[in-house]
Amino acid sequence: MEKGRIITIDGPSGVGKSTVAKSVAKNLALMYLDTGAMYRAIALEVKKHSLSLDNDDELLSLLSNTDIEFVKDNNVLSIRLNGEDITNEIRSPEISKISSDVATKSIVREKLVEIQRRIGLAGNIVVEGRDMGTYVFPEANFKFYLEASLDERAIRRRKQLLEAGIELDMNKLIKDIESRDKQDMERSESPLHPAPNAVIIDTTNLNTDEVINRIITEMKGE
Ligand code: C5P
Repeated sequence: MEKGRIITIDGPSGVGKSTVAKSVAKNLALMYLDTGAMYRAIALEVKKHSLSLDNDDELLSLLSNTDIEFVKDNNVLSIRLNGEDITNEIRSPEISKISSDVATKSIVREKLVEIQRRIGLAGNIVVEGRDMGTYVFPEANFKFYLEASLDERAIRRRKQLLEAGIELDMNKLIKDIESRDKQDMERSESPLHPAPNAVIIDTTNLNTDEVINRIITEMKGE
């Protein structure tokens, strides 16, 4: 694979983007960037400082004092916020909700997009998020958009949360995902939708390996 390739994987909450994007990156020896984790990191900081999202000045000052870093140690990728490992802390349902609120703010998006482009344009990479193919990397070499039914996404998210020791009622999970989808799709800044030239994969009846194979096959068939 020639240097500098960018592969974007976008899609709604709970569709399995992270698992798939990480595996595709590993399979093809590419870097991997989880941009959702960056919005989650800002959400954590907003929560810690009990910040109102209506106060742009405070938000700007928080953003300029926030350093986000991805660190790879023994093949495990972790995210650090001002030097502190927050990999697990950002996965709670509360942070999921705040991250979607934070992601509606243009000052937050501007700062994070700048970092994402800096990391992404450096080299061969799989980038995962909501607006990777539509806005952040419109010139990406390959664009994928993953979909799955709401029920299936809730089942996947429940399993993922259980692995992290968090048990949530299915109905609550479905409601959370639904409202996050709505906010992510209807916001004015970079709303979630497939890029016109993205390959759309309905993963409802596919297992992880099948999705990964589909992506790799699509890329080889260029
Ligand atoms: O992908 P993940 O669920 O970790 O993302 C958390 C939230 O961050 C999403 O609900 C979305 O609002 C926001 N996000 C975004 N743009 C991205 C990645 C995530 O708006 N590129």
